[in-house]
Amino acid sequence: MPAPAALAHAEDLADFVAASPSSFHAAAEVARRLTDAGFTTLREGEEWPAQPGGRFVVVRDGAVIAWIVPGSATRATAVRVFGAHSDSPGFALKPKPTTGRLGWLQAGVEVYGGPLVNSWLDRELRLAGRLVLEDGTQVLAATGPLLRLPQLAIHLDRSANDALTLDKQSHTQPVWGLGETESADLLGEIARTAGVDASRIRGYDLVTADAARGVVFGADDAFFAAGRLDDLASVHAGVVALEHASDGFDGADIAMLAVFDHEEVGSATRSGASGPFLSDVIERIHLSLDMDRDAQHRALSRSWCVSSDVGHAVHPNYPEKHDPVVQPRLGSGPILKINANQRYATDGVGAAAWHGWCAAAGIAAQEFVSNNAVPCGSTIGPLTAARLGIRTVDVGIPILSMHSARELAGVTDLHALARVAEAYFVG
Ligand code: ZN
Repeated sequence: MPAPAALAHAEDLADFVAASPSSFHAAAEVARRLTDAGFTTLREGEEWPAQPGGRFVVVRDGAVIAWIVPGSATRATAVRVFGAHSDSPGFALKPKPTTGRLGWLQAGVEVYGGPLVNSWLDRELRLAGRLVLEDGTQVLAATGPLLRLPQLAIHLDRSANDALTLDKQSHTQPVWGLGETESADLLGEIARTAGVDASRIRGYDLVTADAARGVVFGADDAFFAAGRLDDLASVHAGVVALEHASDGFDGADIAMLAVFDHEEVGSATRSGASGPFLSDVIERIHLSLDMDRDAQHRALSRSWCVSSDVGHAVHPNYPEKHDPVVQPRLGSGPILKINANQRYATDGVGAAAWHGWCAAAGIAAQEFVSNNAVPCGSTIGPLTAARLGIRTVDVGIPILSMHSARELAGVTDLHALARVAEAYFVG
């Protein structure tokens, strides 16, 4: 059985995922939790205070950065970034979203990132994200279960179990009601849940999310399944670590959680990891500590980034897809991700440091490397390293069903990631 603290961590993650159906909700939920823990919300358009001994959080669209400045901070203080991302693959609402035919109301959606499209079939889905009103006000909105992508019956496609083919346009438009499109209004439906008048909406960024809550299950409560574990499991671990570390913080470096949007679509946006958000925030912290350019470079040269994202646990039905020797097990601890072609930013120096933080936290560590014939994806790690020159190490938790509407993790790994993140923050 996982320890009570690990089970409580998984239940807390289920709450966090339910509160974070879109990247905008995730950023707002991070800010809400940290504000409750004593952090002060800063706005990018306002002046920032001098910061030694302060705890702050700033939101930029679907991204959020939070940090603790030690009371002992000087012009030489380095930063320890724990990076993650707030978006997940799925579907985004198109313009003129109220569609339908044959008495069905449907939603016009566009594929976002690289979802396993079949995994989105036959689930109740929410719509969630941001509405922008005529006066520029931004309102978060999230429906309950509203949509569903019904799979074609086996009787009408006898080949479905051999070669399921899904057209990304014609087969992915979910149903959300019955009636004629002329008298229906999907945006009105969403506006009602947010308590705003639909005629005030001038823009929106809305995505689909699995409506079912995350759950602990399996023999000895080993498993945790939920939507958006990629990468909310890391975001949540970072929040929990920062909450714990902030109580009587005694780290020597600035402890920072940086959560970016748009990782699943390449990160090259103003709230993505290739954008300027992190460097903007670090520079403003440096200025608040009276650092000149030389001091900033000295501080960055001693700084770290731990980039946390999910990785592949070994799959019992497809062992040939993995490296024959390095085979991460669910429940055997967070993974250090290594790739010679720098799809991950980990190097020998980073590996040694990571093993040290794991040892300090008293947790088991394992490694991930690809089978040479099955190249891996990438993360925000190499982007952050290349942009800021900060030494970066790529880590995460092992999962199965990556990019499914509902992914599978190990309960003890989730808690262990939060513990090593806290050990890393306090040095
Ligand atoms: Zn990810």
